[in-house]
Amino acid sequence: MNELRCKVLVIGGGPGGYVAAIRAGQLGLDTILVEANKLGGTCLNVGCIPSKALIHAAGAAHGLREPRGLNAIGLSIGAPKLDYARTVAWKDAIVTRLTTGVGALLKKAKVRTLLGTATIVDGKTATVSADTGESRIAAEHLVLATGSGPVELSALKFGGDILSSTDALALTDVPRSLAVVGAGYIGMELGMAFAKLGAKVTIVEALPKILPLYDAELTQPLVRRLADLGVETLVGARAIAYAGSALKVAAADGAERSIAAEKVLVAVGRRARMSGFGLETLDLTMSGPFLRIDATCATSMRNVWAIGDMTGEPMLAHRAMAQGEMVAEIIAGKKRAFDRVAIPAICFTDPEIVAVGLSPDAAKAAHDEIRVGHFPFRANARAMTLQDDEGFVRVVARADNHVVLGVQAVGVGVSELSAAFSLALEMGARLEDVALTIHAHPTMSEAFHESALAALGHPLHI
Ligand code: FAD
Ligand code: NAD
Repeated sequence: MNELRCKVLVIGGGPGGYVAAIRAGQLGLDTILVEANKLGGTCLNVGCIPSKALIHAAGAAHGLREPRGLNAIGLSIGAPKLDYARTVAWKDAIVTRLTTGVGALLKKAKVRTLLGTATIVDGKTATVSADTGESRIAAEHLVLATGSGPVELSALKFGGDILSSTDALALTDVPRSLAVVGAGYIGMELGMAFAKLGAKVTIVEALPKILPLYDAELTQPLVRRLADLGVETLVGARAIAYAGSALKVAAADGAERSIAAEKVLVAVGRRARMSGFGLETLDLTMSGPFLRIDATCATSMRNVWAIGDMTGEPMLAHRAMAQGEMVAEIIAGKKRAFDRVAIPAICFTDPEIVAVGLSPDAAKAAHDEIRVGHFPFRANARAMTLQDDEGFVRVVARADNHVVLGVQAVGVGVSELSAAFSLALEMGARLEDVALTIHAHPTMSEAFHESALAALGHPLHI
């Protein structure tokens, strides 16, 4: 058994853990990272990145299959042919490039990386059965970053034709028909992508609307798009069983329906990964199904920190990364706390949805009076030139001092506006700050400017 010592031991090499390790290394802390599977975790290997690659490929394929937009600008093409094996190889090449890059960044930061499963012995010790042999690691600080895994339904256990998101991203053919259980982030992103790739998609959601996280005004353009794509959506419905290539569903009215589905994607949420590696021996305080942490990501045991999905919602890669960076700096002696005004949430559907800060309803509940300004992309020149003017930007502010409380948008490519929205909230911008900032023309971001003007009562272009 190799006996290793370090200042910081990070367990889990996803966006939380690898960022914590890189920053710790940059700060001169002797750091070891242990990853059971592949560097990059869920995000790089089976989450954010492969799903966005597939969404891009599906959008390109659909644009050629339904060339109305291309015809409008004078382009015509022959029948397109999709070689899905090449699509998958392209997606996998992006993943490999990024995960290899993470390995190089860790090396550059002088982090020692062990590939193997860590088993926790106590708050300062773990054993690892790695490619390099058995090791026992003694550390001053333990950073837990073991992430999450998909939730299974008892009536629809993963295996065979019942797919988790990981299985769906690993398919080598596009199924003729696909039932998607759960209209959250994964169900909507991957459901739409497979519909564009040619599958007949049916979505089954237990709650009364798709993407329950976002308000109905934001999801309305998506509902229209789903209808265009021929996706059937059953809300208030429950999946009961799957047999003989058919999913039995109890619909909202109580009637049972049978949906033809070659494959079923179950995307009903994710669960923190906390068992099977000795974590229970630490007896850490929980917050529901997650590890409880304070504003510094400290757990209930001294010098044991936790970051990322295992610490709860929102289970997003950028939150995990921000926590990882912060914990490394705290261990290095810097004074830091996780006190961000907002964590942007983006759904990479068509159109995309972005929400930062408070929605109008949440703002109304928290403040006496608010102002809301909307600007539709149908009045935005750039959206027209991009052949997609669906959607809007909406800004929410306090009525008394005009401090911006939230910004939301739905539209093509609005994910890229999220940085401007987040910066405005983080810097405590007022409506006037946004209104007096020159937004370049012609850009989609002018809709943000105009929404602030609208909230002040004098939009220019509508
Ligand atoms: P993870 O990325 O889950 O990494 C944890 C790592 O710990 C894993 O590599 C695991 O192998 C390792 N591990 C676990 N136990 C041990 C052990 N005992 N020893 C050693 N290693 C161990 N988020 C976004 O922000 N944007 C998106 O667009 C987005 N898209 C997504 C799409 C899909 C299909 C999925 C499934 C998720 C998506 N997410 C997205 C969520 C995002 O992937 C997670 O929030 C993020 O990966 C969490 O990071 P983490 O470091 O906490 O955990
Ligand atoms: P989710 O929480 O986003 O959505 C799950 C959906 O399933 C909900 O709408 C819920 O009402 C529904 N549901 C639950 N039980 C059901 C049942 N028995 N029958 C029918 N519907 C049911 O979860 P997800 O889509 O699995 O994604 C997991 C997490 O991964 C997300 O919460 C998010 O944090 C992360 N993620 C983020 C992105 C992104 O940032 N773009 C993309 C994908 C995943």
